[in-house]
Amino acid sequence: MSSKKYVISFPHIGNYYVPVYNLLSKLIDKDTTKILVPDKMSKNTIDIGSKFSPEYICVPFKYNMGNFIESLNKGANVLIQAGGGCRYGYYAEIQEQILRDMGYDFKYITLLDPEGVNIKKVYGRFKKINEKLKFKDFALHFIFAIKAINILDKFETYIRENIVFEKNKGELEKIHKNFLEELKYINSYKELYEFKNKYFNLAKNAVKNDKSDVIKIGIVGELYTSMEPFSSMFLEKELSQMGCFVKRYTTVTYLLFEKGRAQKGHLKNAKDYVCHSLGADGLESVSHTLELVNNGYDGIIHIKPFGCTPEINAMPILQKISREKNIPIIYFTFDSQTSEAGIKTRLEAFLDMMVMRKEKIKKNRREVYG
Ligand code: SF4
Repeated sequence: MSSKKYVISFPHIGNYYVPVYNLLSKLIDKDTTKILVPDKMSKNTIDIGSKFSPEYICVPFKYNMGNFIESLNKGANVLIQAGGGCRYGYYAEIQEQILRDMGYDFKYITLLDPEGVNIKKVYGRFKKINEKLKFKDFALHFIFAIKAINILDKFETYIRENIVFEKNKGELEKIHKNFLEELKYINSYKELYEFKNKYFNLAKNAVKNDKSDVIKIGIVGELYTSMEPFSSMFLEKELSQMGCFVKRYTTVTYLLFEKGRAQKGHLKNAKDYVCHSLGADGLESVSHTLELVNNGYDGIIHIKPFGCTPEINAMPILQKISREKNIPIIYFTFDSQTSEAGIKTRLEAFLDMMVMRKEKIKKNRREVYG
């Protein structure tokens, strides 16, 4: 057990634990509070989370529960839940109730209320574990964290879209690992911008100039499955290792700052297929699919957790787009029982089909244009 009064923890989603750690280390009183980064995602996380979650609840709920239970068992007594839209908006209350019924004693801090983020309310919740925290400092650290998240998103997008072109296999992964380690401890904007330039230069130098002919795949679908690699069985990594260029839209920066104002544009873009929102990311899945088709992508992968209604709504529309625009789309649903071997086999078959299709298109073009 920790000697600190408070041990604070939170659920995983991708590598966002790094800017969260950076933020929390500035918000807590280090004499009384310790940060516990949740255990790395594992089979145990989803098994234990599923065991104590309602059977038909969304899979991200179960992952969050797994993270919380693992952290509580290691001594955490303050839990942070981000909350969010769709059914995510009700996760916090249900999770809190289940964990209390299980006998855990803890403080629970939610960042988003059903009506959105109320910075003063969130400040009040942190103040309960750090009496010395001033509102001005809290707000400034929050703004800094948003900038750090933005840099993380830009850097990871660069890595995702360039790893297939790296000069030496494994180099970008090493740079990425060091980037994450260093980001945890950045304290000022000056350090942050120097850090950003340093890592972008390192990454750019590790990539070939020749970015020729590769299979281009776009990933659309539900946000948690898109951003938490364990929950999609490391789909993006798998695709890169198979030699594909991978594009994905969803990041925290997108969700916080771009999604809202992009809605009108998505409705306009997808007007031949949908005339209203489908809930959560459903409309985006349709609109982004059309964008990928227009940008010459070879194939699209639609991903969702089991039982995700907005994405189930989007699927028949995507099937129609696939038929009408002659674009291959494959659908993956992930839950605690999904077999990695099954995903890999379908992925390989999908890729073979795209390679053959690309060759056929090239051959037809040669026959027409010589
Ligand atoms: S988007 Fe899907 S997985 Fe996420 S809360 Fe809504 S229904 Fe659940």
